[in-house]
Amino acid sequence: MTASIIDGKVYAARLRIKVEAETSKLKAAHGVVPGLATVLVGNDPASEIYVRNKGKVAEAIGFKSAHVSLPADASEAAVLKAVEVLNADKSIHGILVQMPLPKQVREAAVLDTLDPAKDVDALTPTNAGLLLSGRAHLVSCTPAGVMMLLKEYVGDVAGRDVLVIGRSLLFGKPSAQLFLAANATVTMAHSRTRDLSGHARRADILVAAIGKPNFVPGDWIKPGSVVVDVGINRIDAGGGKTKVVGDVDYDAAARIAGHITPVPGGVGAMTIVCLMRNTLIAACAQNGLAAPEL
Ligand code: NAP
Repeated sequence: MTASIIDGKVYAARLRIKVEAETSKLKAAHGVVPGLATVLVGNDPASEIYVRNKGKVAEAIGFKSAHVSLPADASEAAVLKAVEVLNADKSIHGILVQMPLPKQVREAAVLDTLDPAKDVDALTPTNAGLLLSGRAHLVSCTPAGVMMLLKEYVGDVAGRDVLVIGRSLLFGKPSAQLFLAANATVTMAHSRTRDLSGHARRADILVAAIGKPNFVPGDWIKPGSVVVDVGINRIDAGGGKTKVVGDVDYDAAARIAGHITPVPGGVGAMTIVCLMRNTLIAACAQNGLAAPEL
């Protein structure tokens, strides 16, 4: 068997066109231009690339884009002040503080300061709590992207046994909540889980968000199941080159699964466009308007 590919690139391109069209409509009908601000503390090269890409996509879609750069030794107070200024800026509807932060800046302090209405990564306790209560309007970008891909390529997940490996605030926890809300039976696994391979072999849908290259071998995959690989790992490809691989041994898993997300071109392709979608939703909400169906 060869799994069919869940093509995140194709879906993300379609979603981006819709977000762009709704942004033009919002501007024409109400004079509202969604604004997205990124905050980067320090100069980690990977983080710099991420925030630059987010800014570029935001501008290409028709948003206002702003960026605040702070030095690696910035105090927590300076970071909180930057967030407060953006909270108060009416032209900014979404704020993304690039993680990880330097150790002198507590992530919790930043999230407690960030206005939940502008929390387009949905990491604040308010947005995490709303998701738990089934009342979220801003959902973490990558977990939301996974659910869109599954709806499109796999269909209803109700009643299916889902294993989410990884329990981060950014992905694992919100992802498990979304599957639960979609009536799946969810198991969350982490580094202390016993018999992880046994859990994996029972899963109708296996979601790997671990951050370890090729961690899930092919013989953990239930035949015909759905494999969602969230991992983004840069490994040595020889000759001084690197390549990006997921948390699942793709070639082996693709021979056994029914559906699989490739890396790159699967889940990762959805994240930025879901961030734009959240910024548009946030801009509508902050202007008392209903969000478009996207
Ligand atoms: P994270 O904060 O790095 O945490 C990793 C999780 O994996 C933890 O919950 C950890 O368990 C678990 N884990 C580690 N070793 C394990 C093992 N041997 N067996 C079972 N579980 C194990 O997670 P993250 O931020 O969600 O990132 C995970 C991966 O997804 C990374 O490669 C990241 O780059 C990628 N990612 C991609 C996107 C995107 O597509 N844009 C978005 C988010 C994340 P403990 O909690 O017990 O330590």
